[in-house]
Amino acid sequence: MNLSSSLKDKLLSEKDKVLNSKSNSVIRTRFSKVKNDKIGNGILSNKSFLIKDNIAIKNEKLTCCSNILKGYISPFSATVIDKIIENGGLITGQTNCDEFAMGSSSEYSIFGPVKNPHNEKLVAGGSSGGSAAAVAENLSDISLGSDTGGSVRQPAAFCGIYGFKPTYGRISRYGLVSHASSFDTIGIMSKKLDDIIKTFYVVSGKDPKDSTSVDHKKESLKNLSKKSLPKTVGVIKDDILNSIDVEIKDRYLFLVSNLKESGVKIKEIDLPFFKHVIPTYYVLTMAEASSNLSRYDGIRYGNRSSSKDLNQLYVETRSKGFSDEVKRRIMTGTYVLSSGYYDAYFSKALKVRRLIKKSYNQLFKSTDSILLPSTPELPFKIEDRSKDPMKMYFADIFTVTSNLVGNPALNIPCGFSKKDLPIGLQIISNSFNEETLFNFAHSLKERNIFD
Ligand code: GLN
Repeated sequence: MNLSSSLKDKLLSEKDKVLNSKSNSVIRTRFSKVKNDKIGNGILSNKSFLIKDNIAIKNEKLTCCSNILKGYISPFSATVIDKIIENGGLITGQTNCDEFAMGSSSEYSIFGPVKNPHNEKLVAGGSSGGSAAAVAENLSDISLGSDTGGSVRQPAAFCGIYGFKPTYGRISRYGLVSHASSFDTIGIMSKKLDDIIKTFYVVSGKDPKDSTSVDHKKESLKNLSKKSLPKTVGVIKDDILNSIDVEIKDRYLFLVSNLKESGVKIKEIDLPFFKHVIPTYYVLTMAEASSNLSRYDGIRYGNRSSSKDLNQLYVETRSKGFSDEVKRRIMTGTYVLSSGYYDAYFSKALKVRRLIKKSYNQLFKSTDSILLPSTPELPFKIEDRSKDPMKMYFADIFTVTSNLVGNPALNIPCGFSKKDLPIGLQIISNSFNEETLFNFAHSLKERNIFD
């Protein structure tokens, strides 16, 4: 396909910005290959996309920012990539992330840490930190990330952009490298809400290649793009609000009072099982990860050690191929699945997950949307938490529930702190009700309350 001269100029300017970027967000570009893609003509025409390095693009490297896949080239494209290209989108490169999407700061990467474009001493969040930082720096219109426990919403909050996690099963996972399969979703980031909605419209839907994708009624673009506030919004109480960064709390309360003035019914809620969501999430995702990552044995994928003894080959390949955080999760996941501990940990966590899901189903009977902070704190310093896994895990306290339950959620950029750091708040809605989220966010944007 011949690209128009204005499109060539756009791509040249984005390429130039990537070359001059200091955030370490983009690890590979493919600007020169774009014209060889069979680009269709659709609602994503002329929109550029950067893709997290755990989503497959045919004939491109796919490393998940891990040594074990260094040099691996994908023989096929993810369904989302095919749909984007068919609808006119341009895939311009790939982004840095935490190894196998395990982390909350994008520091655990063989390519080095992603830096926050608003302050280079701070993290961009994770694990899709490269995708968030790149959009914040205008290196592309839109980016894709993966959200297993908050990895799209938390970095979007840290970088000051929109970050959307769909209902589980809404967007095909075919071609997304598995982390924890019953939690994994592909998410969308952009500075423009319209671009998120259009991309969602294009990439959502049942995919025969992903048996967990769901055949659910698709709303029209017109309905998704409406502006309307929900009738009832659930808000959290002081006990939780008092434990978070005070500037995020202030922004939260400001939005709540604004909604009240606009006639929205505000309902104070207790977040069901709030204390238990982090342990439940980590027990279950580590168990799933330990099983998913067993495929990297040096035989079928990626790098292989040179040992002649088969057992030694497995041990050496995996010892050299994975870094500490991934090993920690494989070992903990294997432990909670082992015969003596299965009932005490894995099976118990499954039961708690079911209870959480039941409580949220109940909650959504009387509230259309829930408003939460996206993060308990503002972006933290690089190296501040990378050696303290427990501290890192608590960065996800407000995001993991949507992955445990499966419902959709959206980070909304809500202005800046006194030190000019982005603040994000999160709206969530009932499963398969993305329309409510988008209409709500559109309405807030129209009111310009954070400008
Ligand atoms: N930070 C969370 C974790 O490390 C979420 C990861 C994700 O959503 N990919 O598990």
